[in-house]
Amino acid sequence: MAKFLLFIVILAVVYALVRASNRRGKPPAAPRPPEAMTQCAHCGLHFPSAESVRDAQRDYCCEDHRRLGARS
Ligand SMILES: [Zn+2]
Repeated sequence: MAKFLLFIVILAVVYALVRASNRRGKPPAAPRPPEAMTQCAHCGLHFPSAESVRDAQRDYCCEDHRRLGARS
């Protein structure tokens, strides 16, 4: 019985160490460099430029808004 309890304690310690090392591996502050932002020509939403749907001159937030076109 004592061996069984010892086994549980070891598992708990290993689990805690793994959790702690995972937290250290992922710094919470600034995980990504700041992204270039752009604005949807239809609805005016600001969003990351990498996610934009583009036509010839303008950026849109989604395919639907690209189809609808720029709103004046
Ligand atoms: Zn939009």
